[in-house]
Amino acid sequence: MSKALDLFGTVRAFDLENGHQAAFYALPQLEKSGVGPVSRLPVSIRLVLESVLRNCDGKRVLEQNVRELANWKPTAPRKEEIPFVVARIVLQDFTGLPLLVDLAAMRSALARLGRNPKLIEPLVPVDLVVDHSVQVDYYGTPDALSQNLELEFKRNRERYEFLKWGMQAFETFKVVPPGIGIVHQVNLEYLAKGVLSCPSTINHQPATLFCPDTLVGTDSHTTMINGLGIVGWGVGGIEAEAGMLGQPVYFLTPDVVGVHLTGALREGVTATDVALTVTQMLRKAKVVGKFVEFFGPGAAALPVVDRATIANMAPEYGATMGLFPIDEECVNFLRATGRSEEHCRIYENYYRAQELFGIPKKGEIDYSTELELDLATVVPSVAGPKRPQDRIELPNLKREFLAALTKPLNESGFGRAAEELSKSFSVSATAGFQPGGGSPKPTSPWEGQIRHGSVLIAAITSCTNTSNPSVMLAAGLLAKKAVERGLQVNPLVKASLAPGSRVVTDYLNQTGLQKYLDQLGFNLVGYGCTTCIGNSGPLPAPVDDAIVKYNLVAASVLSGNRNFEARVHQSIKANFLMSPPLVVAFALAGRVDIDLSREPIGKGKGGEDVYLKDLWPTLREVRDLVHAALKPEVFRQLYRDFAGLNPKWNEIPAKPGNVYQWQASSTYIQEPPFFQDFGLEPGEIHEIKGARALGIFGDSVTTDHISPAGSIKKTSPAGKYLIERGVAAEDFNSYGSRRGNDRVMTRGTFANVRIKNLMAPGTEGGVTRCFASKGCECAPGDTVSIYDASMAYQREGTPLVVIAGQEYGTGSSRDWAAKGTALLGVKAVVAQSFERIHRSNLVGMGVLPLQFKEGTNAQTLKLDGTETFDVLGLGQDLKPQQDLSLRLTRANGQVETVLVTCRIDTPIEIDYYQHGGILPCVLRQLAGAQSTGPGATARG
Ligand code: SF4
Repeated sequence: MSKALDLFGTVRAFDLENGHQAAFYALPQLEKSGVGPVSRLPVSIRLVLESVLRNCDGKRVLEQNVRELANWKPTAPRKEEIPFVVARIVLQDFTGLPLLVDLAAMRSALARLGRNPKLIEPLVPVDLVVDHSVQVDYYGTPDALSQNLELEFKRNRERYEFLKWGMQAFETFKVVPPGIGIVHQVNLEYLAKGVLSCPSTINHQPATLFCPDTLVGTDSHTTMINGLGIVGWGVGGIEAEAGMLGQPVYFLTPDVVGVHLTGALREGVTATDVALTVTQMLRKAKVVGKFVEFFGPGAAALPVVDRATIANMAPEYGATMGLFPIDEECVNFLRATGRSEEHCRIYENYYRAQELFGIPKKGEIDYSTELELDLATVVPSVAGPKRPQDRIELPNLKREFLAALTKPLNESGFGRAAEELSKSFSVSATAGFQPGGGSPKPTSPWEGQIRHGSVLIAAITSCTNTSNPSVMLAAGLLAKKAVERGLQVNPLVKASLAPGSRVVTDYLNQTGLQKYLDQLGFNLVGYGCTTCIGNSGPLPAPVDDAIVKYNLVAASVLSGNRNFEARVHQSIKANFLMSPPLVVAFALAGRVDIDLSREPIGKGKGGEDVYLKDLWPTLREVRDLVHAALKPEVFRQLYRDFAGLNPKWNEIPAKPGNVYQWQASSTYIQEPPFFQDFGLEPGEIHEIKGARALGIFGDSVTTDHISPAGSIKKTSPAGKYLIERGVAAEDFNSYGSRRGNDRVMTRGTFANVRIKNLMAPGTEGGVTRCFASKGCECAPGDTVSIYDASMAYQREGTPLVVIAGQEYGTGSSRDWAAKGTALLGVKAVVAQSFERIHRSNLVGMGVLPLQFKEGTNAQTLKLDGTETFDVLGLGQDLKPQQDLSLRLTRANGQVETVLVTCRIDTPIEIDYYQHGGILPCVLRQLAGAQSTGPGATARG
């Protein structure tokens, strides 16, 4: 039972049904009391304000926080931080498991200190969905699903045993087992309630209290839930841990960009096309760190599943959220997905009582800026070959791909000579199947031609699209028409279908469309992220060998939302995002250097040319089938008794005990060093002196460059470590699945095969030049692995810095990108700009983010890695966003000093930094030690 105060006198009653009433913190009452002009505030701000108001206790959340947010100004300077207490947390297994490792390590630390380990217990419900581990080893066969699941359980048994320990050790920690779906789709279809209730006492009187459903998740695409009017976004695992231990999630008061949608989609255009268009438009509008809110008649006319597809791309357009407000359409969606009639009525009544029901019209809300998009202007599009915001109108793809092929590498091209374009090469393979080791798909021998632009992976993947029946049914309808016309997919194409819930299978079967997808090779391979997270599995060995031998720019087409280098597959350089029906179309065409608006996609049964327009389903055809997709009874049936319906999960034993018994022999789960030698007093903030550069990087270094999720190379430091421990290369699994082992992850930091360290020109991969004078065998200036250099520097006690360009840490919210950086001994990252979550994760791990002033960067300073660095001005009186001095001493002794901005953005982050990170800070509070940081008094 929660205890709440009503410091502003805003608690009122609203009608549940049948004459019953319940309590809520009424936002309109705040305006009536003269606290602020609440009704003009963006809906997203009002939903956050409700949490601030409800949790206002004068300690964790102050009255001043309520007043400030109730008086949010569209264009004011942003200095205040908002303490946001969320109602629940969602996790996926790649990020969730290391979080559980940290919780277990905190319990171990408390036990060592003689404190009660149960002090570490999530205070809000936590749901972990196991979705990131399944890989596409088997494909193109009817048993691909069961075979891949079999391999997944074999590879991940130790991780799953650990999750089962967590389920019994923590009371509020639940797991949706493998083979059910993708976290955001499961959240949308099942976990999300829209409105929550809890027994409570308000001012010491018992009451049933209702509040909005709010959450954070350890995955950047948590924003899918914004499509259902729910406030939520991705945070690093580190922040999520603090959130579940009762700390508010702190963030700077955001600007809110209103996007006024009008019009409706034209024939041939999908929700994916809108998402790619919005992504490009909002990237240009620089919405990084801002809330985006969609409104107007175009927004109101979109079904929730289309809203969710657009909201899910918020990380790609850079916004914290992409919220669609609550309306009748949300109620319809909740009803159609099996939520009870009673719940739907309470949901509607609650938001009506809050005066938050209905999509706002132009002029009703004061936004920081307003943008316009007429949905009728959206055209069929793809995005790539390297970034999701690089949208290409479908007819221009051929031209753009050919241009990219010959453009230099430093202009985001592939640097190939024009005469190479016409060459093609034969590939053949005998029959056979060798999962995990490069597997030719068919059971009979085959051969084909490959060249630049050949499509070798075609994946219907990603919750962005698989949660949307309209695009999934469109893919099925296109497959049906293609099969009926006699078209086939070349066996060189690795095709796969990986939905985010079993509901998709139900409606593709009910509508009879799955069999056509099967005939084209789009057999079901699993319910999970698969290709979208880079688990595309091996290509047939002869194909992979040919790509490498002829240095080909081969292509993937996928309905995913990210296409950074080496994310989809290490050998595939050009990756194009597109809607599921276009994935099927490009699989049929077999190449991306084709103008599908004019050139035939293939030959029909009678040898006639077949064009995309001959296969494309009409909006009417899709709409007629959508009603088959959303049946409440199907959702209810498929989302119950996960364990009972999953015998493999039941076979996994659950170890007992509140404190985890760490196994020295495990290569998956190790106690991380974060709380070893843990003391109850925080350290002091000092200047950094005599640091060396571990790496100097260009723009758009992603979290996947910093901490890759994909496969582990045998020759990499992580690969060597595993081999030394007796792990065979085929059992390496991925970095993502090894995040419970800091030894693997530290060795894997900056180990992406595509990362380019400008300190070692002409190289690719995790190497650097090492200038350590002691502690290593190499000569100063030698090129060695980043891990080996870090170890040498740590042995001689030299602190390290990383220098980077724009948008450092873009991509998924990946706390290992910050943890690995910290464990490599990096004390500061100096970049031209930071992506939001990674910046806060660095602070959360005690690494100092510093930002170059406009016009300064590694190039203007002519840095080559031979310098040493001092960060001056750092001390106990450090203030958020304060200027500091970066002094560089060049190899010739010349000294230069530039100003940098300290990107510790809020007072609470100063506390975290002083404590060496957010987790030591929280642990000290829980262990009863006093915080000495500047924000400690205000936050209790
Ligand atoms: S990796 Fe792709 S499919 Fe998985 S949660 Fe993220 S966006 Fe969705």
